[in-house]
Amino acid sequence: MSSSSHNPETIVLHAGYRADPATGAVAVPIYQTTSYQFESTTHAESLFALKELGNIYSRIMNPTCDVLEQRVAALDGGAASLALASGQSASAIAIQNIAQAGDNIVSSTDLYGGTWNLFANTLPQQGIEVRFVDPSDPENFRRATDSKTRAYYAETLPNPKLEIFPIAEVAAIGQDLGVPLIMDNTAAPILCRPIEHGASIVVYSTTKYIGGHGTSIGGLIVDGGNFDWEKHTERFPLLNQPDPSYHDAVWTEAAKPLGPIAYILKARVTLLRDLGAAMSPFNAFQFIQGLETLPLRMREHCRNAAEVVQFLQDRSEVSRVIYPTINEDPEKRARADKYLQGGKGGLLGFELKGGTEAGRRFIDSLELFYHVANIGDARSLAIHPATTTHSQLSEEDQIRSGVTPGYVRLSVGIEHIDDILADLDRGLTAASKAMT
Ligand code: PLP
Repeated sequence: MSSSSHNPETIVLHAGYRADPATGAVAVPIYQTTSYQFESTTHAESLFALKELGNIYSRIMNPTCDVLEQRVAALDGGAASLALASGQSASAIAIQNIAQAGDNIVSSTDLYGGTWNLFANTLPQQGIEVRFVDPSDPENFRRATDSKTRAYYAETLPNPKLEIFPIAEVAAIGQDLGVPLIMDNTAAPILCRPIEHGASIVVYSTTKYIGGHGTSIGGLIVDGGNFDWEKHTERFPLLNQPDPSYHDAVWTEAAKPLGPIAYILKARVTLLRDLGAAMSPFNAFQFIQGLETLPLRMREHCRNAAEVVQFLQDRSEVSRVIYPTINEDPEKRARADKYLQGGKGGLLGFELKGGTEAGRRFIDSLELFYHVANIGDARSLAIHPATTTHSQLSEEDQIRSGVTPGYVRLSVGIEHIDDILADLDRGLTAASKAMT
C-alpha cells in the first residue's frame, strides 16, 4: 500500500504492506530465509541485470526489511530507503557511497561519539578527509567546501548541547555548490522531517526511538530522491561513471526506470553486497513493531521531558537545564521551533552544582531510571558523561563538547510522570549531600 500521502500515525501502520499474499497474515511476517527461488533462468537474469527489482539473497534484500524500508521512506517523504545492521553502518555507508580516497566531507562538530570516531579516525584511514566545522554559523560549511567535497553531515538534535542544526540553511548552501546534506535524525524521528527542509539523505540508528524497546541494533538510510546527481557529474563519479563492480552500470542511468533512487540503489547492490552489514529479518520485525507506535511514544517522550524541564528548573541543586526550548540564544531557540515541529524531544541535560561527586551520587541513587549509555528507549535512562562516555577526554575537551563535571544526560521515557519525578527527586536529594 502506498500511503505517503497519509499522516504519520497511519503511515507507520500501513505503508508498504497490506496482507501477506501467501497466507493473508495481517502482521508483517518474519521472512527468515537466506535465498529465493527464481521462476526461470530468464527471471533470474533480469533480476541480476536490475531490469526488474526482486528478491535474490537476504544479504541484499529481504521482504521483512522491505516493509520497514518502505515505511520509513514514506514517513520521511523519501524515495526509498535501505535497512542496515546498525546506525554506525548507516552513517559509514551513507558516505562511502559517494566519497572515495582523495575526497572529503564537511561535518558538524556536534556528533555522537561513535560517529566522531568514524570521522576522525576510520574514514581518514580510508583516505576520506573529514573537515569539522562549528554548525552555529551555516556559512562555515561553504567556507570548508572545495571541488572534492562530496557531502555535508550533521545531526538534527545532537547531544549533549541539544542545539538544533540549521538544516535548511546548510542544505541551501549545498544546493548552491552541488553538495548533498546527510542528516542523522536518530534523536528526532516524527518530530522533524529533514527532507522537507532540503536534506537529501537521512540516516537513523533504529536502535533508539524507532525500535523503542531496547531489543535490537539496526540502522537505515533514506534517499530523499531530491538531489540531481547528474547535474553535478564531476563531483559524483561514483554515480555517474561506469561501475566496474556491476558490469559497468552507470547508477544514474540504471535507476531511471525505477525512480529517483540512483543513490540508494547503488548503496544496496554494491556496498551492502560487498560490506555485508545487513539487518536481520528478525530485527526488521522488531523495528516494525516499534515503528507502529512511534508517533504515540514520541508525543509522550516530549510531554514527559517538558515536565521534567520545569521540575528541574525549580530545584536548588541544579544550576542549568539544557533543552532545545531554553537556549539563551534566541536564534537557537527559533531553530528549535522551526525544525522540531512535532515536539522538542525526549533528551535533556542538566548541571548539578556539586560537580562530579554530585553526578555520581545522583546516578547511584536512581531506582527507576536505568544507568546506560543509550537513548530513545521507552524506559527512562540517565548517564553522567564525565565519568563514562566522555571520561577519556581531557576536562578541557569535555567542556568544549558541552560536558561539565556536573552534567547529567536524561533520555526521558514514557513511564508515568509522577514516578519519573519521584526518582529524580531521590537522585537530587542524594546529590545535594555532595554540595554541603
Ligand atoms: N547516531 C546517533 C545520534 C546515535 O546516538 C547512535 C548511537 O548511540 C548512532 C548513530 C549509532 O547507532 P548504533 O548504535 O545503532 O550503531
